[in-house]
Amino acid sequence: MPEITLIVDDVRGAILVEDNPDLNADAIEHLRETLGESQEIGCARPLEITKPPVSFSKQPTNSISVRIAGFYHDSLTEGPGRRSSVLFQYCPLKCKGCWVENLHDERAGTLIPIAVLAEELLDSKFERDGVSILGGEPFAQPEGLLALVKELRKRSCPHIVCYSGYTLEQLREKSIKQPAIGASLGEIDILIDGAYIESLAQSAGLWTGSGNQRVIDMTETRAGNRIVLYS
Ligand code: SF4
Repeated sequence: MPEITLIVDDVRGAILVEDNPDLNADAIEHLRETLGESQEIGCARPLEITKPPVSFSKQPTNSISVRIAGFYHDSLTEGPGRRSSVLFQYCPLKCKGCWVENLHDERAGTLIPIAVLAEELLDSKFERDGVSILGGEPFAQPEGLLALVKELRKRSCPHIVCYSGYTLEQLREKSIKQPAIGASLGEIDILIDGAYIESLAQSAGLWTGSGNQRVIDMTETRAGNRIVLYS
């Protein structure tokens, strides 16, 4: 019998129903009748992704900038609890079946000063349990990523999740030549690592896109000097 997952948004009163291709038409109709009008959304992200206005990139600030496609609040599937999330622009990995190909181009998106981005992500109008950094490939902008993580911490962000198409082992290898990568790994709470593998999409677990990806508890990993998965 196919399973379905329901997530209750206790702030907004919405119920999120995860899609399951094994559900038959009768079951879907029954859900519609029981839960009322529905709206289809992608990966439980809000429909609206805020694209930073070009004027953001012109704001005078001393902080370094990062190239992003946009940000949003109230995401329920990119780490524990409710997240404010940012999509970094550019990814060199180009996984087959990647569903965010618009984030591959190095020249697209908007350059935004770190201080401005941190302020948007920690906007007090929204509730959050933490911030999630996605892409694109966040570690492809190592200096910007590190500056953002530090700025979020400076502003008392309680929890930071970072996604990467590289494995933790690959990132550690890269950090030999790019110390900012190692420094970011030293600050974040959870790393969700590994490239997207289309053939493993059906075995994806919590917060991941394919079954090969790991949710790594970086605090425990750093403390124990061995990779500890989040549980
Ligand atoms: S790492 Fe992510 S953004 Fe990059 S190609 Fe793979 S799935 Fe797409």
